[in-house]
Amino acid sequence: MRYTLRSTGILSRSLHRCAVVARYSPQFGRSVATWTPLAAAFNRKPEKKLFSIFNRQRKGLFGNSLLGDPSGFYLFKEQADIEADRLVREATSSIRTRNVVEIFDDLSNALCRVADMAECIRVLHGDSQFAASAEEASSAMNDLVENLNTNRPLYMALKKVVDAGQDVKPMDDIDRYVARLFLVDFEAAGIHLEERKRKEVVKLNAKVLAAGMTFSRRCYEPHYVDAGMIPDAIKPYFHSDGKHIVIGNLMSDAPNEAVREAAYRVFLMPDQHQLEPLQEMLTNRFHLAKLVGFSSHSDRISRESVLGSAGKIEQFLETLSHNLRPHWESNKKELLDLKRQENPRATSLYPWDTTYLMTLARSRDADTEASQYMSYFPLGACMDGLSRLFESIYDVHFVIEDASDEDLWAADVYKLSVRSAEDEVLGLIYCDLYQRPDKSSPDCHFSIQGGRRLPDGSYQIPKVVLSLNYEPPQSGVPCLMNFDQIDNLFHEMGHAMHSMLGRTRYQHVTGTRTSTDFAEIPSTIMEYFSSDPRVLSQISRHYASGEALPESLLGKVCAARRKFSALDFQLQTLYAVTDQRFHGSVEPKDLLKIFADLHDEYAPFKYVPNTAWPTRFGHLFPYGGRYYSYLLARAVASDIWGKLFKADPFSREAGRKFRDHLLSHGGGRPPLELISNTLEHTPTVDEFVEALIDQTKV
Ligand SMILES: [Zn+2]
Repeated sequence: MRYTLRSTGILSRSLHRCAVVARYSPQFGRSVATWTPLAAAFNRKPEKKLFSIFNRQRKGLFGNSLLGDPSGFYLFKEQADIEADRLVREATSSIRTRNVVEIFDDLSNALCRVADMAECIRVLHGDSQFAASAEEASSAMNDLVENLNTNRPLYMALKKVVDAGQDVKPMDDIDRYVARLFLVDFEAAGIHLEERKRKEVVKLNAKVLAAGMTFSRRCYEPHYVDAGMIPDAIKPYFHSDGKHIVIGNLMSDAPNEAVREAAYRVFLMPDQHQLEPLQEMLTNRFHLAKLVGFSSHSDRISRESVLGSAGKIEQFLETLSHNLRPHWESNKKELLDLKRQENPRATSLYPWDTTYLMTLARSRDADTEASQYMSYFPLGACMDGLSRLFESIYDVHFVIEDASDEDLWAADVYKLSVRSAEDEVLGLIYCDLYQRPDKSSPDCHFSIQGGRRLPDGSYQIPKVVLSLNYEPPQSGVPCLMNFDQIDNLFHEMGHAMHSMLGRTRYQHVTGTRTSTDFAEIPSTIMEYFSSDPRVLSQISRHYASGEALPESLLGKVCAARRKFSALDFQLQTLYAVTDQRFHGSVEPKDLLKIFADLHDEYAPFKYVPNTAWPTRFGHLFPYGGRYYSYLLARAVASDIWGKLFKADPFSREAGRKFRDHLLSHGGGRPPLELISNTLEHTPTVDEFVEALIDQTKV
């Protein structure tokens, strides 16, 4: 499961601001009848009968007949056990006839198809029995993987091949690269170490997981303060339980500065209850990295990434911070001037001011609240627009599929195929796009089946699930999208298309199964499309009148939305540097002091004493050491956009290049090699920085 970098960051742009949507009474007239079948389907909820205990004709989840009822997960897992056992025997046999990397990929396929589907169903299924049996299967698969990770004969069979660079059948570069990736994963679990150290690795891994999950949970908990601590004048703005004021977020959009300041100070109050699991997680990660032979956790997880080492990541962030300064200083001056228009006595900008003032400045520049345009972007028009865009650049299109031959986990899931010009199905995307009372997952993307070449020459198509949290259609009005949601849809579709268009030999490296800084490139580049007036004007279509928005008007909105990028990038740099330092080569102690020092060095604003921002930095667990990926992927995407698509975002020639040189390889080749082939040039760290700085020039 891959959470998006953009969807859960505190202090980063909120993607799901609750805009008040004007609900017009629908006027379905002539124009509405001309929606394409795809657009019409996404403008209403799918009409799918949900699995019911009384329904005798159950087809099974994803059409898998084993999964017609919750107990099926047990059999599904048993199948994987038997298959894994057979493959381990084959890999370690002295008379095997297949290459080890092929057998490992089969093994990975057998485990992933259960583990990934179980994880998806555990998170998304509304039926508690299904969710519980999926959780059991998921945990059984973890045990199985842990067991395989201790299998020395299996490890030795792989290591021998990687060291020799040859096997029973000829190997090419891809075979060798993927075999090495398997070995890297194996050694990350400490299999190459002596028994005592290997046991220590298992123990440390378990501690990191437990502390990380506790931290993840606690970092979103609200803070309670005695009601007397908050001035009476602003009390009505907060939730109260009678005795306490309860503050569960930064309230950074609040127009009243005193409210924003109080929320900032209370929400970020230092709290041992949050700090302890964070410290525990970081300390154990540090010792784990040392134990398996790396100088730091960051170094351990960056070897197969675009930048390739913790040192290069540091160089990227340092250079970026240095070069951004003049740009964010002018952003800051503009915001302070704006603040003075509201409060002539204001002398400084504070961290709690930025989001509110940036939103205000952007709507002034665009002459409007961006949310006023939502009626022009019903979900159906956006999906249809994406399909036409992909047809234009990749020569593929979406078709809405009938899902009556399978059970789904909720009634409002759309099944979508991606098809070639010859109508061949290249992959399937299950779109679970709407909020539901029983759905609590953040926006994310699950791989259900990885793409891979099969022995008979055919291709095992990729299947993914896209889970988002949009407002469902109601009273005949489709889901209407604001610009942040359109960015978010394009971003997630970028991940999905990485899977759909990947044609990797091995499923271990299908689509998004690659380093985070590389996996975020195809999704981030889609945000360049979604913020281009030429693309948006093609998509826009009023849900009732059918009218489109003119490109000139959208140009103004898009330019306003790009304002203050330098300030945003500088804040992201501070967070990325903090993440690197916390996962660096010196054991992190006194986290708040480290952060305060980094804040003084990198932040555009003064540090606010007695606040503890790291305790709210939830990304530190799932993205530990990888938070810089957001900035690096944006830099690479900016470079690719500039060289391939900026002149013509609908260019088939540019799309072909991007698809052939980058998307089709998934993670099957070193990331920097794929970027270099796409750009026909190997970019340096300075050039990555330059590409990002370019984005700050509106
Ligand atoms: Zn993403």
